Amino acid sequence: MGSSRVADTPSVQHEACDVCVVGGGPAGSATALRLARRGLHVIHLERRVFDACANDTLRSGEGIPPSTMEQLKELELAGCSRWALSTVDHLVTRWPNGRTTDDQFPNDATITMIDRERFDQALFAAGAQAGVDARQGWQVRELALDPAGQCDGVLALDPARRPVTIRARLVVDACGRNARSIIQLGLRKALTCTQFLVVVLYVDALPELEPHRWEMHFWGGEQLAIMHVTELAPGLVRCGLAVNLQTRHNTPTDRLPLFFWRHVQANRSLAQRFEHVRQVRPWYARAGLAYGVQRIALPGLLLVGDATGYLNPILGDGIWAALRSAALASDVAYRACSARDVSRARLAEYEQRWTAERRTRWHVARTLLRGYEHPSLLAAPAYVAPFRKMLLGALLRR
Ligand SMILES: Cc1cc2nc3c(=O)[nH]c(=O)nc-3n(C[C@H](O)[C@H](O)[C@H](O)COP(=O)(O)OP(=O)(O)OC[C@H]3O[C@@H](n4cnc5c(N)ncnc54)[C@H](O)[C@@H]3O)c2cc1C
Repeated sequence: MGSSRVADTPSVQHEACDVCVVGGGPAGSATALRLARRGLHVIHLERRVFDACANDTLRSGEGIPPSTMEQLKELELAGCSRWALSTVDHLVTRWPNGRTTDDQFPNDATITMIDRERFDQALFAAGAQAGVDARQGWQVRELALDPAGQCDGVLALDPARRPVTIRARLVVDACGRNARSIIQLGLRKALTCTQFLVVVLYVDALPELEPHRWEMHFWGGEQLAIMHVTELAPGLVRCGLAVNLQTRHNTPTDRLPLFFWRHVQANRSLAQRFEHVRQVRPWYARAGLAYGVQRIALPGLLLVGDATGYLNPILGDGIWAALRSAALASDVAYRACSARDVSRARLAEYEQRWTAERRTRWHVARTLLRGYEHPSLLAAPAYVAPFRKMLLGALLRR
């Protein structure tokens, strides 16, 4: 680990705090908020500047199920409507065998489609209100490690790109799938499961699409294609194509929209419905979604949210996991800071609790992913309503 280029660059400024949280997505903001509410001095660094026009406000047009709402309620943030775009309470599925089913979500459950930029901004601002020293436009370049390899701060660039060293008893890395610590400490590990490519196009309207309906279309042979369609707002429909990453072959990134249209053309009913649509926003794509992380508690360092690993958005688990890991991490972090002991032995409790809690959810998600791998299995649910109900129950559990 030792010293490094950035560490050797003279810093113009030195600061100190109890906990430095890096990353202003849901995981980082929830951690910072919880720690500040318990009285710790928290510096929270986010590289984005919220509301800057370069930011992608919708990201993938994400949906949050009731379990995520429960997490927001715990933070007293569920009542905010600024980030809610629409709600969905039915799943319409067109199965590989051509059958269509329409199921209302059990127990009056809904999925809320959100504007991620506004959502992230609201969480970040809630931290600032609770006393977090929350800073936008700050980019962390590197973790600071002492000679024994214990993390004792970060090296960051302030909005004017001046280097600043922030010393902290504990660092929480919430920088998502390419978190600083994953890269710097080589923590990423491969997962054995199907890797997906997701290409999302936003169109003005799709004939026959009803509000509050989540449409899911399965088609293709060996290489299954899946299309998720939802209305986010009047005049704004999100159409997300998911395929096995191998299907991409060598399609260059700038040709991914063509890849999307080629798949639509292969589905007669969708091709007709897409005939006269107009794209209304820039497209979005992500590939190779699944990865694991070897350690999420190290001396002086905790990882939260996507930085702890990711499987697939199949259960709408991403933001839930961000908020839930933040709850567990902040509890352990608070007690470790109070005891002035941030050793790996002390922090390992977080790793054990989070790994145990997520194990069941990943098991369910992996089982569902197997369905994607075997189209013939997916034909059966069209006839078995209780099975569909069970799947929806898994998706929407509170
Ligand atoms: C295609 C797709 C669809 C999805 N759909 C859903 C869905 O429907 N529902 C759901 O719940 N989840 C969904 N997810 C998952 C969800 O987006 C993530 O799980 C969630 O954003 C994780 O939150 P996070 O705070 O851990 O990380 P992020 O949201 O990635 O936040 C990381 C933050 O760190 C900042 N950052 C990064 N590096 C630095 C640095 N060096 N210095 C300072 N700041 C930095 C970034 O700017 C960012 O704000 C989906 C994901 C994908 C890929």
